[in-house]
Amino acid sequence: RAKDEGGGEHHYFEPSLHADAEERLKLEASLRHAISREELEVHFQPVVNAKAENVVSFEALLRWNSKEHGFVSPGKFIPLAEDTRLIVPIGDWVLREACRHAATWPEDIRVAVNVSGEQLLEPNFAQTVVRALADTGLAAHRLEVEVTESVFLRDGRHARQTLEEIMDLGCSIALDDFGTGYSSLGYLRTLRFSTIKVDRSFVQGAAQDNRESLAIINAVVAMAQSLEMSTTAEGVEDEKQAQMVRDLGCTKIQGYYFGRPMPAIEARSLVVKRRNAAA
Ligand code: C2E
Ligand code: MG
Ligand code: MG
Ligand code: MG
Repeated sequence: RAKDEGGGEHHYFEPSLHADAEERLKLEASLRHAISREELEVHFQPVVNAKAENVVSFEALLRWNSKEHGFVSPGKFIPLAEDTRLIVPIGDWVLREACRHAATWPEDIRVAVNVSGEQLLEPNFAQTVVRALADTGLAAHRLEVEVTESVFLRDGRHARQTLEEIMDLGCSIALDDFGTGYSSLGYLRTLRFSTIKVDRSFVQGAAQDNRESLAIINAVVAMAQSLEMSTTAEGVEDEKQAQMVRDLGCTKIQGYYFGRPMPAIEARSLVVKRRNAAA
């Protein structure tokens, strides 16, 4: 609430602006200590092969249960972490956690980690990946880095170089939320993405018989096929949607229908078969 109640016209909308800014500052102060206070946890959401429906990988998704603010959604704290560059230490932590857990899974199961533009702009991000793999013992080919189109906006050349270095290590790169960004197709020509992730908004649109969404998924699948990239349909929530994206030719599926993001211990038991204890 504005202190000067006797002021001019401005004070009518100051209170909410002020409250927003204040809340952001409080969140930022808490987020700064989230790692050391052990408030962060990485959850894992299964990605299945569209045909056989077996789990092929998990996407690492960060969760923050703050002592001061309770559960804060990634949609809120990730942008804040990006604006304040806190995403650099936090993202490093996620990467290591994801690799550490993935190293305990069967060897044919991979892990996907979201990486922000801020992290790619660090001078030595590829070295950060090298260290995470070396320290956890995870083979490079089991790590997939997910980036959105926005990472190419600011310093596209540097971002591309870093991604190429990461690919040279043997990791793969996925293009996340495809179709929601500024979608220049130029970088599809110069960078060998392994997977294009079709954003949930198109899947939901197509499921409601929206012709434009259907046409876009068709076009993305056709383009990915000719570029020898796979496609993951995001946000598949029921059997009907799963059938639809399978018919449209998506090669992998992710969504609540096949599993919500879950704690590492649950993800592991989903893919590690019980071994017979008998000698
Ligand atoms: P994303 O990378 O596109 O991740 C997929 C989001 O869709 C996740 O939201 C997931 O929980 C949600 N989702 C999956 N299946 C369904 C479904 O069937 N229905 C619906 N309604 N939603 C579904 P989440 O976990 O809230 O994360 C939101 C975004 O925050 C992520 O989008 C990603 O951009 C960002 N994010 C999360 N963790 C990290 C991280 O460790 N680092 C960075 N840089 N970004 C992260
Ligand atoms: Mg992602
Ligand atoms: Mg996505
Ligand atoms: Mg998304």
